[in-house]
Amino acid sequence: MRLYYKTVRGIVRAVDDVDLNVEPGEAVGVVGESGCGKTSMANAIIKMLPSNVALYDGRIILDGLNIVELPEDEVRRKVRWRQISIVFQGAMNVLNPVIKVGHQVAEPLIIHAEMDRDEAYKIAMEKMKLVGLHEEVFNRYPHELSGGMKQRVVIAMALVMNPKIVILDEPTSALDVSIQAQIMNLLKKLKRELNISMIFITHDIALASDISDKIAVMYAGQVVEIGSAEQVLLSPKHPYTQKLLKATPKLTGEEKPEFIPGTPPDLVNPPSGCRFHPRCTYVMDICREKEPGRFEPEKSQRVMCWLYGGENE
Ligand code: SF4
Repeated sequence: MRLYYKTVRGIVRAVDDVDLNVEPGEAVGVVGESGCGKTSMANAIIKMLPSNVALYDGRIILDGLNIVELPEDEVRRKVRWRQISIVFQGAMNVLNPVIKVGHQVAEPLIIHAEMDRDEAYKIAMEKMKLVGLHEEVFNRYPHELSGGMKQRVVIAMALVMNPKIVILDEPTSALDVSIQAQIMNLLKKLKRELNISMIFITHDIALASDISDKIAVMYAGQVVEIGSAEQVLLSPKHPYTQKLLKATPKLTGEEKPEFIPGTPPDLVNPPSGCRFHPRCTYVMDICREKEPGRFEPEKSQRVMCWLYGGENE
């Protein structure tokens, strides 16, 4: 899948040939620095695109339908909220301040499923209970709720049409650490009990490790490494993944976190060859000239790096 934007500086290659597979009931963590294309990828999957799109192509297959080619009204009728829903980054801060939260949770059912209000309210109430909110919260306004409660409301809204996949874009980044832990426990419970698939987007690889069965590491609009959480966390192959893990503070031991040298690349003019080459300590001549292929150093662990195959072998 590819998603490029038109800007005054030129074409931004936000998502560039990303290949991701999400199995039923599986949580895939998508990690990487800010601006690496994580959120653009989420928008591409649910086909919520800004007006300055320059290119949106490839295949996003769900139950045999290619979302990329589906007309907007069909995406609205068949896919968005019903099959794939999303919790946007900072969504809890954009709850409508003058509408009771219960009604906001029920709104997708009233608007998209054309359900009558009583029935929609009943389902919304069930979902709110499912995410740990008390019945009386239904009739409160957003300003009467704590940050953690608002995030639960937004998660209930994402679940209200029983989607198969929920995309969570930095769902805990605006919360303090103790509330963050509660929301992570809630997400793990929902995954277990509802058997839904999740795409969990975060800049924090440690947080991703808490819920993910599989981890995809994004750099400069590309997935540079993907594998089981165990493979990526315990045996990272791509030099960027290794740096990300070394930059994560450890609770035990003497090891100090390291910085990743350099700055993230400009997606209007990404570096030639391997996009990580200006920051990579293992850089070779081929890395500057040719984009690496996707190699499989271990079964189901895929890496975009010349250290693991191709002309470097
Ligand atoms: Fe480093 Fe080369 Fe691998 Fe890129 S392809 S990560 S520059 S070794």
